[in-house]
Amino acid sequence: MTWRTHMCGEPTRELVGQQLTLSGWAARRRDHGGLIFIDLRDRSGVTQLVINPELAPEAAELAHQVRNEFVLRAEGTLVARSAETVNPNMPTGEVELQVEALELVSRSTPLPFQLDEENVDETLRLRYRWLDLRREKLQRNITLRAQMVGIIRREMEAAGFVDIQTPILFKPTPEGARDFVVPSRLQPGRFYALPQSPQILKQLTMVAGFDRYYQIAICFRDEDLRADRVQEITQLDVEMSFPDQEFLFDVMERMYARIWRECLGIEIETPFPRMTFAEADARFGTDKPDTRFGLELEDATAATRGSEFGVFAGAEAVRFVRVPQELSRGDLAKLEEIAKEWGAKGLAYLVYDEEGEVRSPIAKFLSEEELALFRGEPATTVLFAADRWPATSRVLGALRSHLGRELGLIDEETFTFLWVDDFPMFERDEDAGRWTAVHHPFTRPTDEWKDSFDEDPEHALAHAYDLIVNGNELGGGSFRIHEPELQAKVFDLLGLGEEEQRVKFGFLLDALAMGAPPHGGIALGIDRMTMVLAGEPNLRDVIAFPKNQAGVDPMSGAPSEVTQEQLDELGIKLVERPQ
Ligand code: ASP
Repeated sequence: MTWRTHMCGEPTRELVGQQLTLSGWAARRRDHGGLIFIDLRDRSGVTQLVINPELAPEAAELAHQVRNEFVLRAEGTLVARSAETVNPNMPTGEVELQVEALELVSRSTPLPFQLDEENVDETLRLRYRWLDLRREKLQRNITLRAQMVGIIRREMEAAGFVDIQTPILFKPTPEGARDFVVPSRLQPGRFYALPQSPQILKQLTMVAGFDRYYQIAICFRDEDLRADRVQEITQLDVEMSFPDQEFLFDVMERMYARIWRECLGIEIETPFPRMTFAEADARFGTDKPDTRFGLELEDATAATRGSEFGVFAGAEAVRFVRVPQELSRGDLAKLEEIAKEWGAKGLAYLVYDEEGEVRSPIAKFLSEEELALFRGEPATTVLFAADRWPATSRVLGALRSHLGRELGLIDEETFTFLWVDDFPMFERDEDAGRWTAVHHPFTRPTDEWKDSFDEDPEHALAHAYDLIVNGNELGGGSFRIHEPELQAKVFDLLGLGEEEQRVKFGFLLDALAMGAPPHGGIALGIDRMTMVLAGEPNLRDVIAFPKNQAGVDPMSGAPSEVTQEQLDELGIKLVERPQ
């Protein structure tokens, strides 16, 4: 017995007259006065089965019992459909299988939702993920992801990178999120941490002489979940010895070009443009600019130093964005709300009407020179932020993104890739009163800052880069510190005492002291990449078995309770039993 001679998406005119066997799921059944039609579906597509009770009475008897999502095996002759029943929307729409024998291979209980139903509650979809995954969109997303990972592997291997697997049970790795900790039965009272990334381990593969490493690695970060965050992130993780930035960027660009070409049939332009962090921040108010549209930020700090308008005169930075439209009060109120969400106290604006007349509560405080500076074409609106510099970036960056979408300035068909480099090395954690690493503590300073980063940490630059597409960060990396003294100096600056350095990173410092080659690398998010590639806004829909926004898997119920016996073995006492 054969299950199938063809996949359900394959039958076309050329096969008419042939005897075929197909197996798959009943996507739809219709009874038409005697004739029964069943859409039989598998991963490749759908073929229409016709069952004629006169030609195949036994099959017809069984066909009456068929419900959606039963698994069937059908044998028959492929026939051409009559002209009026041809379905031009289906690749198999010109033919149908005239069934001679039908087998009900598996039945299905009534479905919690229909596969073609729109807007099914996501929890229900996740609870019955095996059904949800049968939908066309999810099949497409998951297969696209596999195709992409295949290309990644081929490109990385062609460039001489070796796939090395690193452990899941490890020690805390500093990527700035909370760790997932795992108790140990053999070592009661001690815990593994799931890696937030294989950062230290991949550096050790360089010290170990592997020269070029890559891995499709899962990284665990116990973060508060937002729409675009999950706890298990998959990354393409890369590291190379004696690093050459041009080579590394070129490998990545070639890989992306091939992914876009083979998965989407789109030629993307390489090399990707580059921009420093300072430029991205000044022009777009963000380190991940969407360069598919303009609306760039402008700086009026110098011009407003002696302003009559106290809010401007007293602010560390006064910046603005010129919108090519006469916005209404309603629009402005909405924008003000967004500005406030991003930390602004209010939103100052100037609206120039068709005649170029200005309308604004603040116009009377501004001098002629100031007004002249901000005046653009008639019918424009100028939106301001006056605050500390980073706050103005945050607010105007958010307004710019919102307006880009709202005003339809974005060409959804294009992909603009961009490298952003020369990131600051440190940022101030005001609450903790100390410096933290912007990338991670193993990132090396740029050559200019190598000897002086500790004298002026605020301005020190790191040899770090991010890759952006359409305003999404695909990932980032850096050149690393391979000198143990330099590493210790960075740890010092981050407030890690000598003893803490030994406890946490002693093994790394020891390794760096035993002939470490210069090295550097990058990590790129596979989930995010798939989202962009598939045009899929929901991160969970590019992951086969995701958890929900509370970190719960509605399908298996994980995380779940463990028995008292397991807790005893681990030496763990719960303060409270879960509700
Ligand atoms: N380990 C870093 C991350 O996961 C990437 C890198 O520096 O290569 O973000």
